[in-house]
Amino acid sequence: AMYQAKRERAGVATYDPAFDDHSTDRLETLAHLREAMLEDQLHVRYQPVIRADDHTLTGFEALLRWQHPERGLLLPAEFIPIAERTSLIHALTRWVLLTAVRDATRWRQEGLQATVAVNISPMSLEFGLLGIVEEVLALHRWPAELLVLEITESAVTDNPDTARAVVGSLRDRGIQVSVDDFGAGFTSLSQLRGLPVHQLKIDRQFITQLERSPSDDAVVTSIIELGHRLGLSIVAEGVETEATAARLVELECDDLQGFWFARPMIASEVLGWASEHAASRTTSAVAAAAAS
Ligand code: C2E
Ligand code: MG
Ligand code: MG
Ligand code: MG
Repeated sequence: AMYQAKRERAGVATYDPAFDDHSTDRLETLAHLREAMLEDQLHVRYQPVIRADDHTLTGFEALLRWQHPERGLLLPAEFIPIAERTSLIHALTRWVLLTAVRDATRWRQEGLQATVAVNISPMSLEFGLLGIVEEVLALHRWPAELLVLEITESAVTDNPDTARAVVGSLRDRGIQVSVDDFGAGFTSLSQLRGLPVHQLKIDRQFITQLERSPSDDAVVTSIIELGHRLGLSIVAEGVETEATAARLVELECDDLQGFWFARPMIASEVLGWASEHAASRTTSAVAAAAAS
């Protein structure tokens, strides 16, 4: 442990095999992930976020993917937790931020006004993040208010003082901060009150069964009410059916995200999707006007 602590202070990525039973697999994944970053095996997919009341597009969430040469397309759950045990996670966070803002800048040049949201691992929510964010914003002259950083409850519970300070600086800089997977962890209300965030994203586990589960409905209803009372905007993720979307509109949820609207898509599909989405909104508005 002392050896590991020394290496950590020296800024060397460390890995403690005592963490799990499959350490050889994990070590191999980690080594390959380093190569993946250099060899273009990583890419970002984008999932639309839709305003609940009028279905306009508000933004996209960036979701990391790894096209592994042997194992095929890997989801973040298969490699982010491994990266999070080492300093590699900081390089990944930076890479995703750079990629997402670069892609979003292209769309914006084509007239698409939308936010881009990037997931930030708890260990990347430290003071170094501010420098990376500044670098990315400056490189693309991306407006701070169109960048959303999604942090998890555990980042807040593990290290409340750092979380509050870093979130405060991001907010001062005009960047939006969202608490992801809200309701899944154990954020106390007092911690939330002291945290200068803009938005809560309700965890998918409460959304996917919403129509069938009165207890999920109760949880979602109170999160929306609580969030609104604290002046926060509320996003529901995992919206898979029209009935779920309708219930969330009824509950005055602000934004919706989920397979009902779109699956995460590759960057080159985004502009086409956005114009089709805008056209179908116009069509349904005309149909609604004609019917009334
Ligand atoms: P998240 O941030 O909560 O992202 C939402 C996840 O729900 C995504 O899974 C998305 O594909 C999935 N999803 C969206 N709509 C639906 C739906 O209607 N039904 C269902 N069943 N699923 C839906 P994905 O892409 O596998 O990402 C999983 C998690 O990995 C993310 O959860 C996030 O915590 C993490 N992650 C993704 N990209 C990054 C990244 O660049 N950095 C970090 N640190 N974490 C990332
Ligand atoms: Mg997220
Ligand atoms: Mg989430
Ligand atoms: Mg999640």
